Amino acid sequence: MTDPRRRLPAVDALLAEPEVAALAAAGPRSLVVRAVRDTIDAARANGGSAPPEGWSAAIRSRVRRLAAPSLGPVINATGVVLHTNLGRAPLAQPALAALARVGATYSNLEYDLLRGGRGSRHGLCRDLLVELTGAEDAVVVNNAAGAVLVALSALARGGEAIVSRGELVEIGGAFRIPDIMARSGATLVEVGTTNRTHLKDYEGAITPASKLLLKVHQSNFQVTGFTAQVSAQEIAALGRGRGVASLYDLGSGLLLDLAPWGLAGEPTVPQALASGMDAVAFSGDKLLGGPQAGILLGSRAAIEACRNNPLARAVRADKLTLAALEATLVLYRDPVRARLEIPVLRMLTEDVTEIRRRGEALQKDVGAAAELVEGESEVGGGSFPEAKLPTWLVRVTPDPRHLSPDTLSARLRASDPPIIARIGDDRVLLDPRTIFPDQVETVARAVRSALDV
Ligand SMILES: *Cc1c(COP(=O)(O)O)cnc(C)c1O
Repeated sequence: MTDPRRRLPAVDALLAEPEVAALAAAGPRSLVVRAVRDTIDAARANGGSAPPEGWSAAIRSRVRRLAAPSLGPVINATGVVLHTNLGRAPLAQPALAALARVGATYSNLEYDLLRGGRGSRHGLCRDLLVELTGAEDAVVVNNAAGAVLVALSALARGGEAIVSRGELVEIGGAFRIPDIMARSGATLVEVGTTNRTHLKDYEGAITPASKLLLKVHQSNFQVTGFTAQVSAQEIAALGRGRGVASLYDLGSGLLLDLAPWGLAGEPTVPQALASGMDAVAFSGDKLLGGPQAGILLGSRAAIEACRNNPLARAVRADKLTLAALEATLVLYRDPVRARLEIPVLRMLTEDVTEIRRRGEALQKDVGAAAELVEGESEVGGGSFPEAKLPTWLVRVTPDPRHLSPDTLSARLRASDPPIIARIGDDRVLLDPRTIFPDQVETVARAVRSALDV
């Protein structure tokens, strides 16, 4: 028997089909050629049978998919506020405006307008960070992992860096403290145990080769039970007394105290600085609610060393990051404005009755398949790992004879824009906390059409 795969049409033959030829003539031709090739490859992988909808239709829909941007907006109905897979922090309006303002034209990124000559991109957010946090100095790089790498290299390269065994953590995306340490050129010295580390452990580990005491915030997990940790304050004091630098990898950059909204336990940036650590590193797109960025704050000497480290150039922030970060930071001059205008903070502190109102509107609009039930949202992004924020969920139960929850949730992902839901107890759950008010109608329409069998 002949292999059916040998009967697949040739690229040129398909391009000569009238419908495909018309597509190619309308262009771009390279895109249509690629769609033809990909469609043939897919048929080959599928055992060699022609696409069920016919070659021309399959090619046309592939052209449409290939022409769409691969990165696009989605609606986050999961209730996880800092969802790393969904791009972490949505930006505030002023940050979006800054992106457009700076991106569309030339900018004074590295140009000193007063002197009329070369300037430094590092000055841009520095003064604001100093003003808002009271730190002596600041530098912004591409992300927090980069900030930690730069700081380790600047403060501990060629020497030993001492870390508690309870803090040798892995952050999402395979960022592990021991690995980053190795790349920075510092030698890791582990002290204490997984659950308990004492000040005397650090004291006993300091040798003439010691250059740094590192504290890593246990962002994405909690150790409970028989535990002991040394505070940032004690570590900073020990370092100062023994002439060893100190670095605090804070993870999330919480600038405001959210304890009044039930979010306690995460150290704020001002608290971390007040501990006396020489340098503090954190993310721009976690609890700070800005663009992806890594921020280092601390003493003049420590930050100067970071700024002058060659790795700082390798992981430098680009102009769009700096523009969006500056516009986000400006909002923090008025904490009330920051809380209401920075989407992450607004979603984390939103009144539950407001969430319920949005849930009711969504539930009514979806109809009989939906009900409103109490539930919990998550902070996400490796912040407040144990915190459960009370919320109201729209629970959608598809007719089991026609539609499984998995299929319903796949249909929602396939809608435009895609809607990402949670599944729990064999139902599809939509959390209005992370659904923006102007998205409610879109979500309702998509759910109705996805339920249609
Ligand atoms: C998230 C996190 C990082 C990495 O931050 P990115 O901005 O994603 O690079 C580093 N350290 C800690 C403790 C974190 O929580």
